[in-house]
Amino acid sequence: MTASHRAFMRARSVIAGGVNSPVRAFKGVGGEPIFMQRGEGAYLFDVDGRRYIDYVGAWGPLVLGHADPDVTRAVADAAARGLAFGTPTEAETELALEVRALMPGLEKLRFVSSGTEATMTALRLARAVTGRDKVIKFEGGYHGHPDSLLVKAGSGALTLGVPTSPGVPAALAAHTLVARFNDPDSVGALFDRHGHEIAAVIVEPVAGNMNCVPPVAGFHEHLRALCDQYGALLIFDEVMTGFRVAPGGAQALLGIRPDLTTLGKIIGGGLPVGAVGGPAALMDQLLPDGPVFQAGTNSGNPVAMAAGLATLKKLKAPGFYETLSQRATDLTTGLSQAAARHGLAYATNAVGGMFGLFFAEGPVRYYEDVMGADVDRFRSFFHGLLGLGVYLAPSAYEAGFVSAAHTQADIKATVAAAEQVFSRLAGP
Ligand SMILES: *Cc1c(COP(=O)(O)O)cnc(C)c1O
Repeated sequence: MTASHRAFMRARSVIAGGVNSPVRAFKGVGGEPIFMQRGEGAYLFDVDGRRYIDYVGAWGPLVLGHADPDVTRAVADAAARGLAFGTPTEAETELALEVRALMPGLEKLRFVSSGTEATMTALRLARAVTGRDKVIKFEGGYHGHPDSLLVKAGSGALTLGVPTSPGVPAALAAHTLVARFNDPDSVGALFDRHGHEIAAVIVEPVAGNMNCVPPVAGFHEHLRALCDQYGALLIFDEVMTGFRVAPGGAQALLGIRPDLTTLGKIIGGGLPVGAVGGPAALMDQLLPDGPVFQAGTNSGNPVAMAAGLATLKKLKAPGFYETLSQRATDLTTGLSQAAARHGLAYATNAVGGMFGLFFAEGPVRYYEDVMGADVDRFRSFFHGLLGLGVYLAPSAYEAGFVSAAHTQADIKATVAAAEQVFSRLAGP
C-alpha cells in the first residue's frame, strides 16, 4: 500500500470527497489522486518519493515553476512583516501598478482572493451599470462557480440556461444565455432576441476549461461589435489566460479591448489572488466610491500581493514568452509526430504557455469537437504517462501548462515517454 493511498483514505474520512476541489479526485481518469509533498521547478514529488514532470502547474498559477526562489523569498519577507493587517498596504498599489503596466485597459483594479470572486464581482458590476439582468456565456466556458455562471446549454441548443448544479435557482439560471464558442452567429441570434436585456458577454478569450481551444479569426471582434451595438459589456475572463498567453494577456495578443477583465491564477503566483479591472469610470461604481457592493476580509493580503508582484516582475525578462511558447509548441509538435508514427488520431492546440491534447482527428475548434475526442484513450494515455513520471491534468477537459522551468530536456523526456504509451495504445 502506497503512502499516497493511505493519505487519500485519511483525507476521505474528514474532507468531502477527500479533496478540496473536485477535479483533483481523478474521477475523470479513474484511480486515486496522488498526494504531493513538494515541488521544484518543473517537477512534483509525491509522498512516495516519485518524481513527475508537471504540466498542471497548480492549474495555471505556476508560470515560473514550483518554488521559484525569488517568489518564495518575497513571500518569506512579507510574512516576516506580518501576515495580514486588514488595512490598505502599499503592496496592493504596487501590484495594481504592475498589472496596469502590462494591461493598460485596466485603469483601476479591485483585488479579491479567487477567480470565482472576480467573475462574480464583474457580473454584478455589469448588471449594475447597465441595469440589465441577462448575461451570455459560452458552452464549455468556466468562470468559477457563481450561481449565474454555473450554467450550460442542453446538447448544443441555443436556449435559456439549464443549471449545471443542483442548488442553482432556475430563476437565476434563466438569466444566463448560452452561446457556442467560436460561432459568432450563435451570439448574434441571442442579441437579436434579447439584445436590450443583456448586461454582458463573459468569455474566456482562449477557451481553457474545455481543454484548450483558441478563438477563430474575427470571433472576438464580433463579440466586441455586438456588445457595442447593444450597450452590453464585454467581460474577458483572463483568470487563466492573463500573463499566460502573453504579458498583456489574451486582450493584447488579440488586440481587443474588453470593458472588464477578470484575473486570477498567475496574478497570485501560487497564493490566492484574483482581480477585476477596467476603466476608472466603471470601477469607481464599486463601494466605497460607488453603490455596487464588494468586499473581502482577505482581499489584497500582503503575503499574496508579494507573491504576485515577484511573479509578474519576472515575466518581463527578455524572451520570456518566446521561450514559454516555444516549449509548448515543441511539446505539442513532438507529441503529434509521435502519435502520427503510431497511426493514432491526435490533435493539439497551443497558445503561449497553454496547450491542449485530443485523441481526435482535429482541428479542434468547437465544444462538440472536444466532446467528440476519445476519452477512454485519454484515460489510458494519462495513466501510462503517470506511470512514467509525467503528470498531466487528470481530465480530458483541462488545458495543460508549461512553465519557464521546463527545459528542452524535460520536453524531450515527455515526448519519449508519450511515444512508449502511444505504441501500447496503437496495439500490436
Ligand atoms: C480557474 C478559473 C476560474 C476560477 O478561479 P478560482 O480561483 O478557481 O475561483 C475562473 N475563470 C477561469 C477562466 C478559470 O480558468
